Amino acid sequence: MLKPDLSQTEDLAALIDASPSPRLACKEVARRLTEAGFHEIHDRDSWDNIEGGWFVRRAGSLHAGFEPASMDKTRGFRLLGAHTDSPNLRLKPKPDSGRVGYRQLGIEVYGGALLNSWLDRDLGLSGTVWLDGDNQPSPLDFHLDEPLLRVPQLAIHLHRELRTEGLKLNAQTHMTPVFGLGKQKEGDFQEWLCERLDIDPKSALSFEIMTHDLTPSRLTGPNREFLSAPRLDNLLSTWAATMSLLNCAKKDLERATVITLFDHEEVGSSSRSGAQGPHLRHILERLILQRGGNREDYLRALADSVCVSADMAHAVHPNYADKHDPHHQVAINAGPVIKVNQNMRYASEGETQALFEQACRTAEVPFQKWSMRSDLACGSTIGPLTAMNLGIGVVDVGCPQLAMHSAREFAGSADPGWMVAAMTTFCQN
Ligand code: ZN
Repeated sequence: MLKPDLSQTEDLAALIDASPSPRLACKEVARRLTEAGFHEIHDRDSWDNIEGGWFVRRAGSLHAGFEPASMDKTRGFRLLGAHTDSPNLRLKPKPDSGRVGYRQLGIEVYGGALLNSWLDRDLGLSGTVWLDGDNQPSPLDFHLDEPLLRVPQLAIHLHRELRTEGLKLNAQTHMTPVFGLGKQKEGDFQEWLCERLDIDPKSALSFEIMTHDLTPSRLTGPNREFLSAPRLDNLLSTWAATMSLLNCAKKDLERATVITLFDHEEVGSSSRSGAQGPHLRHILERLILQRGGNREDYLRALADSVCVSADMAHAVHPNYADKHDPHHQVAINAGPVIKVNQNMRYASEGETQALFEQACRTAEVPFQKWSMRSDLACGSTIGPLTAMNLGIGVVDVGCPQLAMHSAREFAGSADPGWMVAAMTTFCQN
């Protein structure tokens, strides 16, 4: 069995801490790819003669690949897919609000966040300000790792029914963060942010802003067996796909590897940068065209392609073990999980499962198989959408974790490196 390498997990923690928003996750991935000699290409430019490493960004999504020299026009792709977004609290367009002497910022909950996990945490801000450019708005990404916001809990003395009814949180009335003291006035926050970022308030057009917990990611437990971090779903897979692509670029492969890091998975993927959008199939078609191929060659290449869709899996929870099928419990630090659902909420089929299993065996990585309790509704991933969009075989896999969709998630420190080894080997076959 491949020995776990915790330095890889520390590198994953660094990527997570640099990536509080999908756009910043793409920026960090782009930074790593650029350092390795990949070059950025743009949708609006001509894609003639792409060779070696390339990447293309669209808002909070990033696609990248390594195109070996003089590739056969009909040679298929090995795709590694993940998503860059995670549930969180995002600011409304006119956030200034407040009551009883507090300045507050109005938020909307993004995705299926565990709201309780956002209480009593020091929160920072990140996102993008769109500035008035010469011909079109230009984005300014920012990342403030400072304790600026807080959603304080109600004291138990003022909340007697908590013991009998449990915690019930209303997203509109209970989750508004405190920002400061004094009277709020519309436009105050925008003014403050522009000053903080040193930009002229008159040049700021629109904002996309979200909050993040400031506690740094870290390896925990007596033997550092755990990884405690935000956004493991799904920056762990984003990281694993990126590192696998970098590994593949160093080998002399006979196929093009492509990673596809979508935004908006947590809210249904229906956007121009989401898995329901056309971006990936446009990119793949353009890759074949720049090889000198035609549409027939593109369709032949698709028929020769296969995708690993990586998203997190539910490890068995010691306090809720009965929430899992007793024969399909998956454990932390026991290797990548192959996810199977007969109703195709996961895209894994016998053939694609076999391909991933083969890769794990070759890489000497342990693996596990997961199926949901039959009386519970199953989540989904970008896997089925990619299978539907491209008509290619997909296997849904992921590292096991606890506390999915919490502001602070929990996984094993050995699994991330094993996922990279399995994905890298998958792309070589
Ligand atoms: Zn996910």
